[in-house]
Amino acid sequence: MSWLLLSIVSRAQQSAFFVWETDFEHALQTAKKEDKSVLLYFSGSDWCKPCMKMKQEIFNSVSYKSYAAQNLISVLVDFPRYKRNALPNEQIRQNEQLAATYNEKGIFPLAVLLNASGQIIATANYKPGGSLPFLAYLESKIKPKNQSTTHSFAAMGSPFEITIVTSPEVNANELIAKAELEIRRIEKLISSWDHHSQTSKINTNAGLSPVKVDTELYGLIERSIKVSRLTGGAFDISFASINHIYTFDGSTNDMPSEEEVSRSVQLINYKDILLNPLDTSVFLKKVGMKIGFGAIGKGYAANMAKKFLINNGVKNGIVNAGGDLCAWGAPVNGNSWKIGIADPSKEKPFIAYVDLNDLAMVTSGNYERFIFIDNVKYAHIIDPRTGHPVRGLKSVSIVCPDAELADALATAVFVIGAKNGLAFVNQLENVECLIIDDNNKIMLSKNMRLNEE
Ligand code: ADP
Ligand code: MG
Repeated sequence: MSWLLLSIVSRAQQSAFFVWETDFEHALQTAKKEDKSVLLYFSGSDWCKPCMKMKQEIFNSVSYKSYAAQNLISVLVDFPRYKRNALPNEQIRQNEQLAATYNEKGIFPLAVLLNASGQIIATANYKPGGSLPFLAYLESKIKPKNQSTTHSFAAMGSPFEITIVTSPEVNANELIAKAELEIRRIEKLISSWDHHSQTSKINTNAGLSPVKVDTELYGLIERSIKVSRLTGGAFDISFASINHIYTFDGSTNDMPSEEEVSRSVQLINYKDILLNPLDTSVFLKKVGMKIGFGAIGKGYAANMAKKFLINNGVKNGIVNAGGDLCAWGAPVNGNSWKIGIADPSKEKPFIAYVDLNDLAMVTSGNYERFIFIDNVKYAHIIDPRTGHPVRGLKSVSIVCPDAELADALATAVFVIGAKNGLAFVNQLENVECLIIDDNNKIMLSKNMRLNEE
């Protein structure tokens, strides 16, 4: 009794892993879905001796079955001659059509390897010698599968993570390491902490003299000013003129004096950042004025890392620059990158999911860096009009094709507030947002699509 049970179980297992498919359309669909190739086996099962041998030696072997279970959809295209073996008419019609397309010369037996779009990759006749040479041949013809490689590191005061999906022969770790170097190069250029950076030079020469800078930094400042104009000054890199009077690390609860605020707030004005395109110099008009890229730098770095990787042939990837994400192509399993938007109250890990296809998503939140003043939580984002930290919202997520713009707009919408922020985003093409206010109310822009799974 028990041996019978055992053998049934093992046979059932085998058939669960390997089955001959007979419906060609269905085979193609499955191959597409499971990222497999299709093997057509043209056989005359009851008259062609070599066909029987091929089946016995190759297709019935354990090695073929286990290889096929992983990599192939095997389709039996049989042409039996005896009446007792006759196939249904529908099947005969399909098989004849397949022979007309893929086996014009009527060779039996013949194995034809197709990709999931039905194009021929290779053909093979029967050769004695067992299944292994046959499998080696298939393996050499089937495109190797893509692999996912991830590397995490700290930069710009934040955790970064880069994932790329490449074919196995690509040295993914080396590419990511180079992308990391690119991010560190940008950090050096835009840092206002590093006293030797070009940005620091601009700041120390405020009110004194213009500073000639690299076209790259010049371009970033130029684009920052454009966003300032677009947002009516809600986003303003000269916010940094006031930033030093606040501490956003929780070390103090003291609000600076109103006097101090009003003295510094006068220094915030993007119109006082003077650009000279002739010598790419930057001049801050007033003594004490400063610029900082806290709200746009990570987005820019994410863009540049992506650009570097794409230029080096990477077709799929995602750069996470401290929560500023930019994605292109697709992950190993699936068509788009599914991203969670963090729950600011931390009750659950994510409040919603978004699918990113060649899109960036940036979230500005008050849940990572903030200050409490008189038990009120303030974000580390400053309203350039008042000089006070902004309150009212918990998080703003912007989705658009450009990570740099998304970064700047997330900060701007934080300043502008929910109602006007939504109206503003709804006017912009290809920009969407999700806002969570202090009462945990979630608001979406007109065309914001969530992954509802
Ligand atoms: P995070 O750095 O957490 O991703 P943001 O992208 O919103 O969040 O950037 C916030 C940072 O932007 C602040 O720490 C500060 O350096 C800078 N910043 C604050 N207020 C403004 C503003 N109104 N315009 C431009 N930058 C700002
Ligand atoms: Mg930002």
